[in-house]
Amino acid sequence: MSETIPHECDVLVAGAGSAGLAAAHAFAAQGRTVVVVGKVETHLAGRTVALFEGSLRFFRALGLWPALESRAAPMEGIRLIDDTGSIFPTQPKEFRAREIDLDAFGQNVENNVLVAELAEAARKNPLITLVEGLLDAFELNYSGARARLASGQWIDAKFIVAGEGRNSQARQVAGITVKTWTYPQVALTVLLKHEKPHHNISTEYHKRSGPFTFVPLQGREGAPHRSSLVWLVTPREAVRLKALAPEELAAEIQEQSHDFLGHITLDGPVGAFPMGALKTSGVTGLRLALIGESAHLFPPIGAQGLNLTLRDVASLVDCLEGVDLDEADKITRALASYERDRARDIGFRVNGIDMLNRSLLIHALPVDFARAFALTFFSAFGLLRRALMREGVTPHGPTPKLMQKSARAARH
Ligand SMILES: Cc1cc2nc3c(=O)[nH]c(=O)nc-3n(C[C@H](O)[C@H](O)[C@H](O)COP(=O)(O)OP(=O)(O)OC[C@H]3O[C@@H](n4cnc5c(N)ncnc54)[C@H](O)[C@@H]3O)c2cc1C
Repeated sequence: MSETIPHECDVLVAGAGSAGLAAAHAFAAQGRTVVVVGKVETHLAGRTVALFEGSLRFFRALGLWPALESRAAPMEGIRLIDDTGSIFPTQPKEFRAREIDLDAFGQNVENNVLVAELAEAARKNPLITLVEGLLDAFELNYSGARARLASGQWIDAKFIVAGEGRNSQARQVAGITVKTWTYPQVALTVLLKHEKPHHNISTEYHKRSGPFTFVPLQGREGAPHRSSLVWLVTPREAVRLKALAPEELAAEIQEQSHDFLGHITLDGPVGAFPMGALKTSGVTGLRLALIGESAHLFPPIGAQGLNLTLRDVASLVDCLEGVDLDEADKITRALASYERDRARDIGFRVNGIDMLNRSLLIHALPVDFARAFALTFFSAFGLLRRALMREGVTPHGPTPKLMQKSARAARH
């Protein structure tokens, strides 16, 4: 914990996950003083994030990418394989980044590495104070906002960014309602070492229990070929798989992957994350905005979660650029455009991923047919195929400044 905790700041960020830390850096780059409060969690088992082009531009613009680059692996292609056993099987589909004039769709990096680096950079940034604790109360008023640390100290702020994840308390205090639901799935996550190279291609098998996805990881000494695995299984199957000895689990993974990476061994502990989703009635309140999992949650299909979050952050700082945070009416007007901007992007991802996930879980011929038809149709026509790829990587709609091609490294 920092030596002295300021009693006031321009922007108070609740949550020190990847969302909160990214927001802290983006607001500091605007010259605002920021206090970011949360536990810096760097022991999530087996979790990685595939960061797409817009997200990479975001981190580059903030000067944060160089520390991460050497530990990230490029994703030059994405292979989709129907392994549902449906009577309407589709041929494997492969999408290459160069089809949309990119060297790679993005870069895959370990979640723990990303959070640790963002936290380390925050500690060095004179405009950011990182407080490794929890907030237990929030007050939002026309004249200002404040939040209380579990230790009892209040911190006054002109603006609050709620990035404390799915159970956000700030969201509740702001009167934003939430609809949540669950899926009969658990995501098992684990890092793997394997015999054959991944060729910088991410391979996603669509199975009846959900996707089974290998994402390329950077090799290291003694382990030149590494990938991360996200495997959606039933809760009962998750319990069985987690109880297996490492060699037994590795053997099951190898069998499920039809051996395409050769011999597999585990390269760390196995994580298990129950799957759910969340939609909110809005993303703003009085002197407050939601970002990240406080604002949206869905299963990890198509690697959209953190990429969407970084668009929240980039859009929010754009909306508040040049706004005097002492003036509540100006903040409210700026937040109206944040609300408009995020509604479409968030709605599209939460609903689209829900539909795709359910289409795998529902064992019905018409659904199998529709899924097979949609994939074949989209991948067969060049224009549609490229539009689909671009939508996943750099979505349509206005591009926030930190994600524009020309975004320059921001100075503190
Ligand atoms: C298996 C899996 C794979 C994924 N893969 C990808 C991927 O490839 N690409 C991608 O873009 N996304 C991916 N995602 C999604 C991505 O990991 C999440 O969107 C992201 O980690 C969420 O970050 P967050 O900061 O919003 O939430 P969290 O990581 O939950 O962080 C919330 C933070 O708030 C803190 N907090 C909670 N309560 C309080 C409080 N009262 N006061 C202060 N702090 C508090 C917590 O301690 C934590 O630090 C994946 C998700 C899963 C489950």
